[in-house]
Amino acid sequence: MMSERITRRVFAKAGAMATIGLTTLETAGAMASQQPDAAPQPSAKANTLEVRPYQLMCVVCRIGQRQTEELGDARLTEILAAVREDPKIPARLRLNTESVYRYQNPGPQEDSPEGEMFNAKRDLDIIQKLGLVPGDARPAIDMFERLLLNVPATKGVCGYETVTADTWQGCPHAGSGNYEKGHALGIKAIIPPRDEQEKADFKKNTVAAIYQAETLQIRPHHLMCMSCFFGARMDNLGPIKEDNLFEAIDAIHKNPDIPVTLVRGTCMICPPCSHYEAETKFCLGGRSMALRDQKKDLDVLQKLGLKYGDTLPARKLYELLYERVPSTRDVCGYGDGEKRAPEWSICGDPEGKETYRKARAANLGIKS
Ligand code: SF4
Ligand code: SF4
Ligand code: SF4
Repeated sequence: MMSERITRRVFAKAGAMATIGLTTLETAGAMASQQPDAAPQPSAKANTLEVRPYQLMCVVCRIGQRQTEELGDARLTEILAAVREDPKIPARLRLNTESVYRYQNPGPQEDSPEGEMFNAKRDLDIIQKLGLVPGDARPAIDMFERLLLNVPATKGVCGYETVTADTWQGCPHAGSGNYEKGHALGIKAIIPPRDEQEKADFKKNTVAAIYQAETLQIRPHHLMCMSCFFGARMDNLGPIKEDNLFEAIDAIHKNPDIPVTLVRGTCMICPPCSHYEAETKFCLGGRSMALRDQKKDLDVLQKLGLKYGDTLPARKLYELLYERVPSTRDVCGYGDGEKRAPEWSICGDPEGKETYRKARAANLGIKS
């Protein structure tokens, strides 16, 4: 059985890396993963998982049917192993098209037996529901989360209510309910969650580090998240398991002039978080959160007239932040409150979060 006790860390230790179906892709900064605090590198080679859209669904379907790591199909088992080994591996969707997208056609080798036209239609049906186009790539964890969000069932995709001709018989498993069972298990059945003990250990050690620190290391837009956290809990401020937002605020309350260095990437607040990948220090938050966060960090730096590595007393930093960034709309709502793609989703109210407004009005509780 695919045990719920399998966690990302345990799986990584097992080292079940797939080698087939991976290609290399020139990816800017991909190998900077060991140094998230360093500026992105111009170019590096990263493995890419080339997949047919239907294979994503079949992985979910086989998980629903078997609930084992061995999916009963070599290619699907390899895809699952590769994604578990590295949830952020780029998964690129390739499918057989007739015209302008032919440059990415994979050929018929991995077609399932139901015929060329059914294979083409099924892949197009899926990619349309995903809101993507042939050749699009996303970190695998994002791709599977997008599949689960947008494709809840096989009906109309893998099989049709009425069989109109032999060509359109569909997949024999379409009515089995297996995909729907796999779908109900959610992303944790595909990519095991972070180990709870590891999270607890990180919480303990990093809280101690915050309270001992002479200088806090905080990514720029987390100054704003600290505000939203504070504004939501002004009467009941206390620590949570998932991050160190409280502890960073508390350290500032205890010493409002504590120096804060603005750092690139994840920071002192992140290590206990479910989305934190300890090996790389990357954030694997949903819908490419790391991409949004990079923009938010740079937006804050630009508005404040600062750069990574700058150090200011917390009190001065917040004076500057609240003067130059009156609302989360200016940063988290991209200035116009318009969501243009799932990856560019907006945290909270597009018009600006009330909790930030409250924290700004209270100057984060920093005593004058
Ligand atoms: S119904 Fe068939 S094609 Fe569809 S996900 Fe299941 S096995 Fe794959
Ligand atoms: S609205 Fe912005 S600042 Fe507030 S919690 Fe969300 S990402 Fe952080
Ligand atoms: S979601 Fe990402 S940025 Fe936010 S605390 Fe977790 S790891 Fe850090």
